Amino acid sequence: MAETIYDVIIAGAGPAGSTAATLLAQYHHKVLLIERAQHPRYHIGESMLPMADSIMQRLGVAWEEGNLRKGGAEFIDEASGRRTYFPLAGHYRTFQIERSVFDERLFLNAIKHGVKTHEQEQVQGVQCDTDKVQVKTDKTQYQGRYFIDATGRNALMAQQLNSIKKIDNLGKYALYHYYKLAESEEADKLFTHGNIKIFLSEVGWIWCIPLTGRRLSVGLVVQKKVPLDLKQDALFAHYIHASTYMHELLQGAEVLSSLRLEADFSYQNSRRYGARFACCGDAAGFLDPVFSSGFFFAVKTAELVADQLHQALLTGTEAVADLHVANDAIYQKGFKTMHLLIERFYCSNLVENLFFESDRQPQIKQEIVALLAGDLWQEGNRFQQGLLSGRNS
Ligand SMILES: Cc1cc2nc3c(=O)[nH]c(=O)nc-3n(C[C@H](O)[C@H](O)[C@H](O)COP(=O)(O)OP(=O)(O)OC[C@H]3O[C@@H](n4cnc5c(N)ncnc54)[C@H](O)[C@@H]3O)c2cc1C
Repeated sequence: MAETIYDVIIAGAGPAGSTAATLLAQYHHKVLLIERAQHPRYHIGESMLPMADSIMQRLGVAWEEGNLRKGGAEFIDEASGRRTYFPLAGHYRTFQIERSVFDERLFLNAIKHGVKTHEQEQVQGVQCDTDKVQVKTDKTQYQGRYFIDATGRNALMAQQLNSIKKIDNLGKYALYHYYKLAESEEADKLFTHGNIKIFLSEVGWIWCIPLTGRRLSVGLVVQKKVPLDLKQDALFAHYIHASTYMHELLQGAEVLSSLRLEADFSYQNSRRYGARFACCGDAAGFLDPVFSSGFFFAVKTAELVADQLHQALLTGTEAVADLHVANDAIYQKGFKTMHLLIERFYCSNLVENLFFESDRQPQIKQEIVALLAGDLWQEGNRFQQGLLSGRNS
């Protein structure tokens, strides 16, 4: 029997893989999407950015269904009593989502659009030849015209090409738990506003993300040295309960998970595309999650790659090695902005001098809100220009 030749073979059915697959199928290309796990599968990363909205609309996914509306982002320093709030209102609309449920919806949506899918199959290696790609899995081998790596932080192509560049000085690791909150006035307020709260901590920062069903995602991201004698559970409890707000909010809460850990999460893949392949989402790079940019970059890079690849498949130019050079520059501007913002968050007085002062400077406030919304390619954002040119430190 003749082997099927796919137009595009995609490894990894997270947000990046399912988005790229759906968009390419909408263009009527023949797509195979291979996922090593089985949906629904657990994934961290619940807080979304508004600029993913237009991509969800293109996919035909109503992300308002079953998810909590995210009002905005609050930054709080309990030690000094200072706080600030960046509302995501007007045309900025987004949600706090449960990833296992939502990622499965994106995956089923890809199937609905005609994508051929295989779950519980792991891609092990890829060979990009001049006339085709060969994708080897733990079950068999496939041929296609193009390969997209959307394997997340497994970064299959980067492992194969040895092209991971670690980014230092950001958060070192995250410890996190899920809770169901007891009835309280503070909990009611949290679920009504849907804000993500970021608390500055002695050792890094804490996220507090409300979800539907009175559930809460709470994480501690550690950037500084911690007492060596504290084991992970004790460390998490110590720094979470050092926050008066979190201590009170968690009174009577039911713990829904065991403590989870993610480490070494900031890097960039220096070979994000080449002849007959491109990398999307975390497989292209990942930044510390303080500004919740991961899901957005995943679907944005998938959109950029899919649109470009569609044209190339039509004209038979998909083997051109620098096919994605222009779109990669667009991505790089966004990634670099976020990277600089996160770096300033950790290594300068950005929060003290700019975030907490921004209520007195409406223009700057608006420009910071744009970046926190993922609106990274606006003309004339002077705050962003300052970041990119080395000012705003
Ligand atoms: C501590 C922490 C907190 C975070 N918080 C947020 C947040 O609040 N908001 C946000 O937007 N982002 C957050 N993120 C980031 C976010 O989770 C990711 O950026 C996002 O999931 C990237 O999507 P992706 O599709 O690129 O990768 P993934 O979602 O990781 O999907 C990759 C898929 O590929 C599959 N796969 C891997 N290897 C193979 C293989 N060899 N063959 C076949 N399949 C394979 C995996 O099973 C997986 O399903 C956080 C990350 C961390 C570490």
